[in-house]
Amino acid sequence: MTTAQLQKAGQKIGPPPRPIPTPTSIPPPGDLSLENVTQNIPGPQYFNADQNQSNRSSEDSTYHAGLRGPKGDFSVPTMEELKMTATTPHRGGEKIALEILENIIKDKEYTATFSKPETAPTSFQPASTCLLSPHMHFGSISCRKFYWDVLDVIEEWEKSGKKATKPPCSLTGQLFFREMYFAAQAGIGTYFGQTLHNSKVRYIPWHLPSKRQPNPDDRTKSLSIKGTYHVDSEEAEEWFIRWREGRTGFPWIDAIMIQLKTEGWIHHLARHAVACFLTRGGCYVDWERGAEVFEEWLLDHEISCNAGNWQWLSCTAFFSQYMRIYSPITFPQKTDKEGNYIRHFIPQLKNFPEKYIYEPWKCPIADQRAAGCMIGKDYPKPMFDWKDRKEICIRGMKTAFEAGFHGSDVEVINGEARTILTGKPGNDINDDTKIINNPEASSNQGKFKTESQFSTSKSTKLSAKRGQTTLDAMFVRKKVKSEDDGNN
Ligand SMILES: Cc1cc2nc3c(=O)[nH]c(=O)nc-3n(C[C@H](O)[C@H](O)[C@H](O)COP(=O)(O)OP(=O)(O)OC[C@H]3O[C@@H](n4cnc5c(N)ncnc54)[C@H](O)[C@@H]3O)c2cc1C
Repeated sequence: MTTAQLQKAGQKIGPPPRPIPTPTSIPPPGDLSLENVTQNIPGPQYFNADQNQSNRSSEDSTYHAGLRGPKGDFSVPTMEELKMTATTPHRGGEKIALEILENIIKDKEYTATFSKPETAPTSFQPASTCLLSPHMHFGSISCRKFYWDVLDVIEEWEKSGKKATKPPCSLTGQLFFREMYFAAQAGIGTYFGQTLHNSKVRYIPWHLPSKRQPNPDDRTKSLSIKGTYHVDSEEAEEWFIRWREGRTGFPWIDAIMIQLKTEGWIHHLARHAVACFLTRGGCYVDWERGAEVFEEWLLDHEISCNAGNWQWLSCTAFFSQYMRIYSPITFPQKTDKEGNYIRHFIPQLKNFPEKYIYEPWKCPIADQRAAGCMIGKDYPKPMFDWKDRKEICIRGMKTAFEAGFHGSDVEVINGEARTILTGKPGNDINDDTKIINNPEASSNQGKFKTESQFSTSKSTKLSAKRGQTTLDAMFVRKKVKSEDDGNN
């Protein structure tokens, strides 16, 4: 599926309605007295189940305060009342969202000539894009208002004879991407957010595959279990943990993950970089692992956009040019030669020489000492040789693409696809890896293989499957480049 297809479909149903005017009054809420409502004040069982407890400075007082909250006015609890300290500079609320949008459309040139691939992922304070996605998620800005305010500026700009950018790169194009993922999710349903049973998602035998559980709505099928996965390779598990914690030894990747964890928002191309690195451009780890981390840390987390973009970046749907890989070294230099983004988010590297800021392991020891940061002690060495990993990943992707399995294929469901692909070039799982306890196999009462699905078989012949109705097959191929410039 593409945004062009979405626009074509949109032409049939006509333009989205303009937002309705702000109400001048709202109906009275009625009797707000809760005297007759009984409420069980939670006891210690609540505190034991409070997953955020470790992030609080002391006990959360809001829950105990009753249905109307600590001030008795139903207001949203403050961070102070929740006993938490915000690490993010981003703030919520409609007033702030409207101010952000107002400032964007005031700058007519920025609005009319916005071109996503030319925005800098290394810009922070301020960011190079609108930073309205958390507001879009929480509903503090209306999508229709965002769209029409921007379109009005573009139309005025064009009427004055000036050239505006067009979708997919323009600002309205960005909103079309959002709609495209929503539409794809609506079409596919429950399985949109996972590979298993999803006919549109290409199957790759990634490391750290999700465990499965029966789907309560369809006992014959299963769901990926969030956060629970098979550790098929200790090495990949270590890479994944280091990726999540921003300790890969590649400053560009680490700075992004630190920004994500502390601030909850990162630029789109920064998301591209870390998603590519975790999956087909370095670690060969399942995109579902990365999507879970984003789900936890993104302020703008949106199931459809998150899963859809992870599929795009891992080349499993929407996009298929797996040869185009983001370099963690050269890509960020296009917009930040000095490494200011890295210096900000990784203070250990603050004084590192510009020449080595993206590859600190190459810096002479004397210069490391002078910069006050010894590689391997104050900042990690790179966790692997990226160029080697890139080649291995490309080989693995090539093999998987040739095989052509998709998430709903019986071979994927019964584990055969993994057996066929594992051990083929690039799919470098250790030969002695065995994973047991496959609930899918047992829940299907012997229909599928009950032995380990993940044992390796180098002798199985690889045959290409044809006739798959893939979303990415509809993507218009551009000339293959070996490095991506992030044009989505
Ligand atoms: C791996 C990955 C995961 C992502 N997860 C999410 C997510 O959970 N939630 C989310 O809203 N976006 C997600 N995105 C898309 C995109 O990165 C963010 O929407 C964008 O960076 C938000 O910043 P902005 O508001 O400054 O965007 P701008 O560039 O200013 O765009 C304006 C608006 O368009 C929408 N938009 C822009 N690009 C996209 C896109 N590619 N897909 C969907 N909507 C888009 C957003 O609502 C955004 O606020 C993801 C991208 C990647 C690569």
